[in-house]
Amino acid sequence: MILELAEARPEGVRLVVTGCLAERDGAELTRCMPEVDLVVGFGVPVSLRRRASRRARGTTGHDAATKPRGIQARAADGTAGASFDLLNLPRPPVKAPWAYVKVAEGCDRRCGFCAIPQFRGRQRSRSAESVIGEVESLGDDVREIVLVAQDVSSWGRDRDVPEDVRRARGAPRPIVGLLRELRERVERVRLLYLYPSSLDEAMVEAIVATGVAYFDLSLQHVSRPLLGRMRRWGEAQTFLDQVSVIRQVAPDAALRSSFILGYPGETEDDHDRLLEFLEEVQLDWAGFFTFSEEVGTYATRLSEKVPTALALERLRECSETQDAITAAKRAALVRERVSVLVDEPGTGRSHREAPEIDGVVHVPRVLPVGRIEDVMVTGAAGPDLWAEPVPECAAGRAR
Ligand code: SF4
Repeated sequence: MILELAEARPEGVRLVVTGCLAERDGAELTRCMPEVDLVVGFGVPVSLRRRASRRARGTTGHDAATKPRGIQARAADGTAGASFDLLNLPRPPVKAPWAYVKVAEGCDRRCGFCAIPQFRGRQRSRSAESVIGEVESLGDDVREIVLVAQDVSSWGRDRDVPEDVRRARGAPRPIVGLLRELRERVERVRLLYLYPSSLDEAMVEAIVATGVAYFDLSLQHVSRPLLGRMRRWGEAQTFLDQVSVIRQVAPDAALRSSFILGYPGETEDDHDRLLEFLEEVQLDWAGFFTFSEEVGTYATRLSEKVPTALALERLRECSETQDAITAAKRAALVRERVSVLVDEPGTGRSHREAPEIDGVVHVPRVLPVGRIEDVMVTGAAGPDLWAEPVPECAAGRAR
């Protein structure tokens, strides 16, 4: 992809590589890809290339004269981006009636397959004031915010939240208090990436009160022995009990999760248990991924690797099972009334659809972008719905 972009870029455009790959393999990228102008991990330049000088020399960038300058892969203490990180970047202008808001960076958990804590370090939460300030700065045109972090439900646990603030917010978990504050400022607050152990009743109620009864539970698997090898919490019955509580509090709650297939040690029994679970829990959405061995993770030391072909076969089985469930759940919404935020002409989302992840609700193009409208679902196909304005709303618009 990097090379394709290098080929496609117009004159004068610089090519910057950033993110996890740049953080982990920045030095190698710098060495092997002279096409790249800048390699940036999480805030600390790994390399800086001066294409201008390269061009001035009339080279293609593949010679020794174009070696990068200023290589600085990491902060002095070995942590990633300690003084200037993604949390402090100014946000680009918002072009939709919804916006991501990052509330923390890093993660204190140590899941066996995950390399993120190596790159991003321990969790660092933004202050409540900073998050609230950013949400307020988005303006009235933004009707939905999507809170993201590696482990959203743990927001604030690394901060010294003053006791009076904590009490004033009445928060058993800091994130609950933050949600309450944000809900006063924006109609919809959506959370992504919830570690399942965080979902006690107070948390469920706090999420439902955000106006978006959407639960993105990061389960990864349901077999207890396998979750143990993944160094993760929970098991099938615990997850079923949690979902039951969610549905008692909010019968129309939408649930999403993601699962890894082919983690070392995954047996046929583990896989069957996952398929049974999918049938039983009836999630609205689920993503499936085959295990990918990441350098430096605990999982690399595990035996009983699962052959790729078998992992792909398991993925196919899970995807087919879930696709049928998703389609049936979507079809069951036909003739239901839902409230959608119109993201762009002809496309809206109810609380059941996260932006850029799930299906959408197709609506008439006349519905104004940025409005929250009540519509009646008239059709469904796969993950998508089609809907028409309910008559009294249409009449109100005409007036
Ligand atoms: S999978 Fe998520 S919770 Fe686990 S270590 Fe990685 S970022 Fe943290």
